Amino acid sequence: MTRDSLALPVTGLRQAFGHRPGPVRLDDHDPRATTGFPGDGKDDAPDAMKALGKDLRHQQQQLFAQGRHGSVRRMLLVLQGMDTSGKGGVVRHAAGLIDPQGLSVATFGAPTADELEHDFLWRIRRRVPAPGLVGVFDRSHYEDVLVARVRELAPAAEIERRYDLINDFEAELVEQGVTILKVFLHIDRDVQRERLLARLDDPTKHWKYDPGDLEDRARWTDYQRAYETVLERCNTPAAPWYVVPAGRKWYRNWAVAALLHEHLAELDLSWPPADFDVDDQRRRLLSED
Ligand code: AMP
Ligand code: MG
Repeated sequence: MTRDSLALPVTGLRQAFGHRPGPVRLDDHDPRATTGFPGDGKDDAPDAMKALGKDLRHQQQQLFAQGRHGSVRRMLLVLQGMDTSGKGGVVRHAAGLIDPQGLSVATFGAPTADELEHDFLWRIRRRVPAPGLVGVFDRSHYEDVLVARVRELAPAAEIERRYDLINDFEAELVEQGVTILKVFLHIDRDVQRERLLARLDDPTKHWKYDPGDLEDRARWTDYQRAYETVLERCNTPAAPWYVVPAGRKWYRNWAVAALLHEHLAELDLSWPPADFDVDDQRRRLLSED
C-alpha cells in the first residue's frame, strides 16, 4: 500500500456505521471488523493516521478560526463503551492528532455529591464545547441510562424519561451549532478479558485497573441490552450513533479519526476572510523606518 492511496480522502464510514432506525443487535456487529480501512492491515495504520492527522489539523484550525470570527459551529465527539473498549486510547490517538488548544476533553465519572443535587444533564451542559472547539466526552449523559439502568441507580420510570430528555437536549445542541458524533466502541467479552489480564500483567497499568470493573463485567449481557436500547432510542437524524468495532486498537483509532474527518469535511470549512485592509497593513509595515 503506497502513501498516496492511504492519503485518499476517506468517505463512506458514516454510511458503513451509521445504522438505520430500528432495533439493534450488537451480536450481529463483528467487534474485530476493519470496515473501510484503506490499507492492508495494522502495518499500514501509522501512515493512514499520519495522512488523516494532517487533514484533521487543517480542518480544526479552520473551525477554530471561524469560531474567532463569530461562527457558533463546534464539534462534539461522545465516546461510550465498556471498560477497556479504548475511550482513553481514542482521546490520545485520534483526538490527540489535533492541536490541544482547539480541544476540550471532559471525563465523566460517578457523579459527585454536588452533581447529584442537579438533574443529570447539568454537569454535561457545563462541558459542552465552546464555538470553534472540538469537544470530546469520555463517557457522557448516556451513563445515566446505562450504568444507572443496569445498577438501578434511579427508578425505572425516571430512566424511561431520560431517553427523550437526551434526544431533546441533543437536538438543542445541534440547533446551537454543535455537530454531534456519538461513537460506541464495540468489543466482546473475550477482548475485555484479554485486556484486563494485560493490565494485571503490567505494573505500569495497575493504576488503570479497578477491581470494581469486574462487577460491571459480570453484568455484561445487561450492559449490552442497555446499549442496544440507547442505540435504538437515541439514534436520531440530528445526532446518530456509530457502532465502531474496537477489538483491534489500531483500527479503532483510525476509524474514529476518520469519522471525525468526515464530519468536519461536511461542515465545508474555509478560512475566514480578513476583516481589515490587508494592503493597507502591508504598506504600513513596509513604510516603517
Ligand atoms: P472510568 O471511566 O474507568 O474512570 O470509570 C468511571 C466510572 O464512573 C464508571 O464505572 C462509570 O460507570 C461511572 N459513571 C459515570 N457516569 C456515571 C453516572 N452518571 N452515574 C453513575 N456512575 C457513573
Ligand atoms: Mg473503570
